[in-house]
Amino acid sequence: MNKDMLNMYEQMGIDGSLADRGEKVLSELSGRFTIIDETAEYNQLKVLKAMQDARVSESCLHGTTGYGYNDAGRDTLEEVYSKVFHTEDALVRPQITCGTHALALALMSNLRPGDELLCPAGKPYDTLDEVIGIRPSKGSLAEYGISYRQVDLLPDGSFDLEGIRAAVTDKTRMVEIQRSRGYATRPTLSVERIGELISFIKGIRSDIICMVDNCYGEFAGIIEPSDVGADMTVGSLIKNPGGGLSPIGGYIAGTAECVENASYRLTSPGLGKEVGASLHVLPNMYQGLFIAPTVTASAMKTAIFAARMLEDMGIEVSPASSDTRYDIIQEAILKSPDKLIAFCKGIQAAAPVDSYVTPEPWDMPGYDDQVIMAAGAFVSGSSIELSADGPLREPYSVYFQGGITWPHGKYGILRACQELVDSGRL
Ligand SMILES: *Cc1c(COP(=O)(O)O)cnc(C)c1O
Repeated sequence: MNKDMLNMYEQMGIDGSLADRGEKVLSELSGRFTIIDETAEYNQLKVLKAMQDARVSESCLHGTTGYGYNDAGRDTLEEVYSKVFHTEDALVRPQITCGTHALALALMSNLRPGDELLCPAGKPYDTLDEVIGIRPSKGSLAEYGISYRQVDLLPDGSFDLEGIRAAVTDKTRMVEIQRSRGYATRPTLSVERIGELISFIKGIRSDIICMVDNCYGEFAGIIEPSDVGADMTVGSLIKNPGGGLSPIGGYIAGTAECVENASYRLTSPGLGKEVGASLHVLPNMYQGLFIAPTVTASAMKTAIFAARMLEDMGIEVSPASSDTRYDIIQEAILKSPDKLIAFCKGIQAAAPVDSYVTPEPWDMPGYDDQVIMAAGAFVSGSSIELSADGPLREPYSVYFQGGITWPHGKYGILRACQELVDSGRL
């Protein structure tokens, strides 16, 4: 590393020896980075083509207020999403408040009393426990007479096909498959594997709705769950597809029928997609989607660099630095609450916003255990921006993600490693 750069890192709290260690680690990763850049190149063209084919115009960037009738910018953005995901339709709204809301909307609008939801690849994301009623909760699917079944992955991580076949009944109306790992120590599913699972389910009964929680997976590869048969692909705009610019929102891309059902639940029966003012967020939603492929690439590079760096320091990580990746999440199994807190302090200290605050564990709504979160983001809670979080429970894993720019992601990881070193935890 040259003198100016080293000097800059030292000013930013990184020891010269750690910065050099970073360079050594990085030199091993150039092949991986090339593949990530190629994926970003493909996805950039895919998004650009969708925008051109949907004839996005300057007037699309103007929002509406009030009811939001005839909001051409909103409708065109939904067309762009449907072209990116190759679906019949899409619902992309600032009124969808977060990923959990988008998922809950997809579930509640397409299930009816007496139906059963099946999770054929293990328990869904923690915040869906209360949506489904796995933990009793007001307004849950369970309260509306919608039952739930789950088939876990086999110990080797493969699908329990016999178990799934046995779990499908006449009542089974929908399956939910989570692409990313969430707060579980299990591998992220590749889109190809999701496709195999969907084919298996459709082979049992073709009218079962297959929904995929796509959070953190968008643009990690060149195909999406909607390309392999998912009826609904669902995610958050303060993760990958918002590109760090979208200040709010979620999406459901899918069949015309599923999206229509979701629209009646989001607004009201009879109104559906016709209302919902976009206010002033459309420029950020469009531009965020436009840069999302390269932003996701920055986050992927950050994750791989982190994995290799931590491996080098003797910490167990998942996925390993050499594993193929299907999302932007990295887990490091820190095995002690102190290390978990130290790591998160480092990520926080590297942030452009709120770098001077110290993250503390807290009882976050929707989560069972206390959670510590480090984020100093331009968009509050945005986890496409460099951020780290983890539940205070065994094995004290930290899950981290994001990095809107690769140089910032790299610095953040070095800062977190420095914190581990300085706290005497390594
Ligand atoms: C983030 C996430 C969610 C929930 O999104 P929120 O915006 O936090 O509500 C659901 N599933 C997965 C896999 C996620 O990563």
